[in-house]
Amino acid sequence: MESNRKTTPVKSNEQCSIKTVIRMDHKIPILQREPLIAGATERDQFFMQTALELAQQAQDCGEVPVGAVVARAGVIIGRGYNRPISAADPTAHAEIMALRAAGDHLGNYRLLDCTLYVTLEPCTMCIGAIFHARIQRLVFAATDPKTGACGSVIDLPAEVRLNHHLQVDSGILAAEASALLKQFFAQKRKATGQNRHEN
Ligand SMILES: [Zn+2]
Repeated sequence: MESNRKTTPVKSNEQCSIKTVIRMDHKIPILQREPLIAGATERDQFFMQTALELAQQAQDCGEVPVGAVVARAGVIIGRGYNRPISAADPTAHAEIMALRAAGDHLGNYRLLDCTLYVTLEPCTMCIGAIFHARIQRLVFAATDPKTGACGSVIDLPAEVRLNHHLQVDSGILAAEASALLKQFFAQKRKATGQNRHEN
């Protein structure tokens, strides 16, 4: 399993500029086959673990740690992490980045027979993009009580007036994803408190 982890950690904020991030993404091997594992749960855990590693990359860039991968027939065909600050792009959520990479890989905006794994419950924008991409199945880890659009604030996949067919599963590695986010925001609060004290 270790040999399949080929993500490149980002060391400094300087490396998180738009150009560097784009270049870095091209360096990462797009295709990553799952290890030979029997169960569906183990498979989900493997892909979510990869998404968590991408979330860590977002954190290393000072972004809210969220990561996502798109898998098709046991192969990762798109990956992304949250980077709206470094990309100066409000749409640069992990899911959007992973969908774009997968579309680029397939040469098609319709990502048929694909599963999207993301470490945090998607927002309304990302669910919209997931619908447009015809994602077959969505798996998310932690829930988002503030902007979650899969049951926390609103439940768009359950909305029968929207024409879509999306299977949604949640809770895979939720504790790990949640711990990463809590740790990030605790550090932010601590830093802000220190700045206030210094001022
Ligand atoms: Zn989003």
